[in-house]
Amino acid sequence: MDLCELTVAEAMEKMQAREITSVDLTQSCLDRIERVEAKIQAFITLDRKGALEQARKADTRRRSGQAGLLGGIPVALKDLLCTKGIRTTCGSRILENFIPPYDATVVERLKAEGAVVLGKVAMDEFAMGSTSESCAYTIPQNPWKNGYVAGGSSGGSAAAVAAGECLVSLGSDTGGSIRQPASLCGLVGLKPTYGLVSRYGLVAFASSLDQVGPLCRDVRDCALMMNVIGGHDHRDSTSVKREIPDYSLSLVDNVRGLRVGIPREYFVEGLDPEVEGVVRKGIELLRQAGAEIVDVSLPHTEYCVAVYYIIAPAEASSNLARYDGVHYGIRDLNADSLLDLYKNTRSAGFGAEVKRRILIGTYALSSGYYDAYYKKASQVRTMILQDFTKAYEVCDVLISPVSPTPAWKMGENVDDPLAVYLSDILTISANLAGIPSMSVPGGFSRDGLPIGIQLQGPHFREDTLLRVAHTLEKGLGKAGCAKVC
Ligand code: GLN
Repeated sequence: MDLCELTVAEAMEKMQAREITSVDLTQSCLDRIERVEAKIQAFITLDRKGALEQARKADTRRRSGQAGLLGGIPVALKDLLCTKGIRTTCGSRILENFIPPYDATVVERLKAEGAVVLGKVAMDEFAMGSTSESCAYTIPQNPWKNGYVAGGSSGGSAAAVAAGECLVSLGSDTGGSIRQPASLCGLVGLKPTYGLVSRYGLVAFASSLDQVGPLCRDVRDCALMMNVIGGHDHRDSTSVKREIPDYSLSLVDNVRGLRVGIPREYFVEGLDPEVEGVVRKGIELLRQAGAEIVDVSLPHTEYCVAVYYIIAPAEASSNLARYDGVHYGIRDLNADSLLDLYKNTRSAGFGAEVKRRILIGTYALSSGYYDAYYKKASQVRTMILQDFTKAYEVCDVLISPVSPTPAWKMGENVDDPLAVYLSDILTISANLAGIPSMSVPGGFSRDGLPIGIQLQGPHFREDTLLRVAHTLEKGLGKAGCAKVC
């Protein structure tokens, strides 16, 4: 096995024992990228030289006894996290030339713990999508099967980790964009409770829904990453002031007495039987391990897609108003008037899906329609949160599928946005409610495509999710790296 296929924890042990250096590890990732990237297409920007320099520094730091929690670990970052001196495109032409003057807080925290940033990876433009096919630069492919999507919007993050191009990655999740690609690529992905992880330096899509989180090869790495990125940040006004626990203490193989809820409404029509089979196997495993299985209802689930596709575009239409050709990114230099400058820059800079969302959002917020759409959606959002609060009176964690189907063929749904929106049905309610949610590998379809299991818990109970995920992983196994050929 190549070094690039190690988990973070395994690599840390080997570096600690002086068996390998960060330069070895980083070089192994770069070699893998060299070999498979023509196929995987995960990277928008690769910083070979910078990565090796950081690796050498990490090795020096380790020799002086200050390795840090991620000392020398090669990571890839979704290209909507600001990186000082490294282009941050958000998958959009409009930010083609944007080089941030600062690091996002999460990036700063990774670097402070010694991580080596390899580069920036592909995503749907402004994180709007479920396949990464709306990325203006490169479209990642699923490492498990040629011609299949890696999921989205953090598809580049998932593809890079699953293909061994990096050890771990950060993504963002507004309506499932960490969990769904993790599920489609056989990884562990966690969307934290809203407010647990800083959004400072994360390019905003829908500010009341966005959270940053890790995509990893196993649950242990996920706990480690949460220890690094979680916790209060005074630069994000929605960041919660609260002590975070040591998440690695959750990795105990004991779910005895834990109440696991099965949300009736999540076993929907159109759910792929193989996906359902994998989730049912996970439920059985937990039952045998001593968990109590209870049926629960989240009655407002049927409204989630409608509510999300009002609220997210409404916030996006406001957030994206800043791309005007003046403040950031590209500019139309031939415009005769200020209005033309705005119009031409935005027409050329944004892709079709982003324009669609801006139109929907602007419409939903316009006077005369605000009450009927945005206000109504906000009210139903509260009811969706209340569904969860009620469910958590009788259970500690909810178990369900992540995506109704395994990965699909590239190009299959590009002309049918509604079909893609509907595939988000099982993940978006966690963002609307602000609760933590994760995806854990559950098995494979007959076609060799990974299938994930989703866990959701009450606010700030990432520890419970990790504990259940650990037991699932012990019983069902890890997916490991795909053999890209
Ligand atoms: N697929 C959803 C959307 O298109 C979620 C995206 C996300 O979580 N960033 O909006």
